[in-house]
Amino acid sequence: MTVQTAAHYHAIAGRITLSGRAFIDGAFAAASGGAVMETVNPATGEILAAVAHCQTADVDRAVAAARRAFRDGSWSRCAPERRKAVLLRLAGLIRVHSEELAVLESLDSGKPIRDCLKEIGTEVPDTIQWYAELIDKSFGKVAPTGEDALALITREPIGVVGAVLPWNFPLLMAAWKLGPALASGCSVVVKPAEQTSLSLLRLAELSIEAGLPAGVLNVVPGLGETTGRALGLHMDIDAVAFTGSTDVGRLFLRYAADSNLKTIGLEMGGKSPFIVLDDAELSPELIDNAVMSAFWNGGQNCSANMRQIVARSRQEEYLHRIVERTSELVIGDPLDPRTDLGPMVTRDHRARVQGHIESGYREGARCAFTGDTPLSEGPGSFLGPIVFADLSPDMGIAREEIFGPVLGVLPVDDMEQALALADASEYGLHATVYTRDIDRALSVSRRLACGTVAINGFTEGDIKTPFGGYRQSGSLSRDKGTEAMAQYLQTKTTWIAIRRPFAD
Ligand code: NAD
Repeated sequence: MTVQTAAHYHAIAGRITLSGRAFIDGAFAAASGGAVMETVNPATGEILAAVAHCQTADVDRAVAAARRAFRDGSWSRCAPERRKAVLLRLAGLIRVHSEELAVLESLDSGKPIRDCLKEIGTEVPDTIQWYAELIDKSFGKVAPTGEDALALITREPIGVVGAVLPWNFPLLMAAWKLGPALASGCSVVVKPAEQTSLSLLRLAELSIEAGLPAGVLNVVPGLGETTGRALGLHMDIDAVAFTGSTDVGRLFLRYAADSNLKTIGLEMGGKSPFIVLDDAELSPELIDNAVMSAFWNGGQNCSANMRQIVARSRQEEYLHRIVERTSELVIGDPLDPRTDLGPMVTRDHRARVQGHIESGYREGARCAFTGDTPLSEGPGSFLGPIVFADLSPDMGIAREEIFGPVLGVLPVDDMEQALALADASEYGLHATVYTRDIDRALSVSRRLACGTVAINGFTEGDIKTPFGGYRQSGSLSRDKGTEAMAQYLQTKTTWIAIRRPFAD
């Protein structure tokens, strides 16, 4: 997609209709009692829209619609070719409307438009398309029985799925859940994060245009303690697919135990290491990846590689190069394609990140760069990037998930120490390793307890590769890849006895 000027995206923003109503049973609806919450543009502090704050009664209505649609079989039991065609149409409509959706998401989340266009113009529709194309290529199994029986092992949709989403990648996280859930034949009730409901509400409208039967996809915006809790405790939801913080993930396990023992898939926080061994070449590409792995999306990224573990002999050279590259980052208007860093998602979140930074100073971390910005004094929630050196593993900023533009360097003496530091975390989502020695790279990768290891590049993989966490970063569930289907399917055995018509 050709990237246009800031004026172009501001013009789209001026024309956009903002609808904050819930989407239940194929139509927009207000929440019970007209309950609303405000969504704010984090770049300007202006109120963008009043968004429905769905109450328990609204969640009940959405779940009832999803259950009715699941039972009537119009989606759950329809021909695979039809399901595939509808999802391919949805992917196509997202591409057609990607500029509008990207502007909506940029306004609502503060994410730079360049990133929104990449995610919504490419990754979101590609995800829906990838799962659509899997639908008529997935086969069941036949068990190796004797001649007296035929045993079929088939996979069936789990039923009604509740998806609960974070604000940092609003439509992409939705696509990671909706792609495999809808491809499996499930009905879905999605709760977007309260800060970022708008782009998903528009996508729900497009799903009807694509031919998805009413009730298969419902969107219930609302606060965690009301709407999220109602989904977690609901007796007629069969599975919850959650992405968010580890603390809230823990709550969903409790909700399941306190209700119908629904299956819970968890994708949660991280504190990921970026390991630079002593033989790594500090190439421009490495430095760029180091900086972007920490500051991409303002560091509001579950796999942000904030803990940069660097051979002590290289620390000063490394810091010099990192600071040089960080100082080039453009902070500003999210609708300007030249912007690298937008604001934090809310002022409250910025205050949390600032609290971590202050504790870093108190604990004695050395500040190597602070990109303080005059925009921080304005009505938005801007925060410049900061680079700390000489972190030690016992410091809070080296252990806790910050979720903001903070990069910290931890010097180490050898590979054993690098591995020990990288592993000293309650999380296990992602790690990056840079070395010219493939034996060292693979040995470190094998010994790291985390779901994704990137070698000589920063990446979360692509749609074909599963993404999820070890330890307190996740459960056994995975997003992306064929592995993601497991969250939305259950296995059935059909055992058919065969009477022998022939004498042996
Ligand atoms: P969060 O846990 O605060 O919120 C996530 C969702 O849970 C939101 O929809 C929220 O409304 C809901 N929620 C909050 N309190 C709830 C409650 N009491 N009961 C039910 N639902 C509740 O997370 P966030 O701040 O939106 O997102 C940031 C977190 O998400 C970070 O920890 C980040 O690492 C994680 N994340 C993980 C991945 C991954 O793939 N592993 C991807 C993106 C973000």
